[in-house]
Amino acid sequence: MRKQIAAANWKMNGTYQQGEKLLNDILKEEIVLAAHQQVVFAAPFPFLIMANSEVADEPNYFIAAQNCYNKKSGAYTGEVSVDMLESINIKFCVIGHSERREYFNESNAVLAEKINLLLEKNITPIFCCGESLNIREANTQNTYVATQLQESLFHLTAAQMSKVVIAYEPIWAIGTGKTASSAQAQEMHAHLRSVLANQFGKDVANEISILYGGSVKAANAVEIFSQPDVDGGLVGGASLIAEEFVAIIKALK
Ligand code: PEP
Repeated sequence: MRKQIAAANWKMNGTYQQGEKLLNDILKEEIVLAAHQQVVFAAPFPFLIMANSEVADEPNYFIAAQNCYNKKSGAYTGEVSVDMLESINIKFCVIGHSERREYFNESNAVLAEKINLLLEKNITPIFCCGESLNIREANTQNTYVATQLQESLFHLTAAQMSKVVIAYEPIWAIGTGKTASSAQAQEMHAHLRSVLANQFGKDVANEISILYGGSVKAANAVEIFSQPDVDGGLVGGASLIAEEFVAIIKALK
C-alpha cells in the first residue's frame, strides 16, 4: 500500500519553545501509526535538531525542512544546503511550496536542481505543485500542473521518482479556508497519477504518495483523505493546533 502521510507545515510561525510544546502535545497522544502511515513535521530551520530528537523514538514520525538551497555549498549567505540537512539526519524536505514560488521566484528548473541534491542524499522531497485561481477559472489547471511535474521531475529515473512525495496544493485553497471539494481533489490527484504513469510507468505511479494541501482541518480531513488517489495531506494553519493535527493524523487511511 502507498504511504499515507500527514505532513504539518509550520511555515514561519511560533518560537522554539512553542514548537517544542506543540510537538510534545501531539506526541503525548501516543498515536500508533500503521506501517503504511507516516507523520512529518516541517519545522523552521532553527527547530530541526530539537524536533528530530523529539521524534527519534517514535516509529514513522519524521521531521522535514521547509526548503533547501539549489547549490551544494559556497558563498550563499543565509542559505541552507542539503548536506547540512543530511548532517543533522533530516529525512524529508518540502520544496516548491507556492509561497516560495511566489515570494522567492522559485522556478521549476531551480526545483529540479533541489530535487537532484535531495535524492543524492536520500532525503525525501515533498514536491509541491498547484494552480492559482486564474488558472482554475480558465480551466487550464491540468496542463499547468502537468508542466510543473514535467519541468521539475521528468529528468528523474523511475527509481528516483519512486522516492518523491507530491503535494497538490491549489493556491486558491491555501490559508483561505476555501478547500477544494473532495471530488476536485480526487480529479486532480487521478490526473497527476496518470501523468506520472505515462512518464514513469503505472507501477511507479501507483506507489507515489500524492498529498492534498489547502485548508485541511479536522472537520474535512476524513472526507478528503478517503478519496482513492489522496494519500493524506500537507497542512498549514490547522497543524499549529495540537488537537486539530491529532484529528488529522487519525483521519489517515
Ligand atoms: C500549506 O501551507 O501548505 C497549506 C496547505 O496551508 P493551509 O492548510 O493553511 O491552507
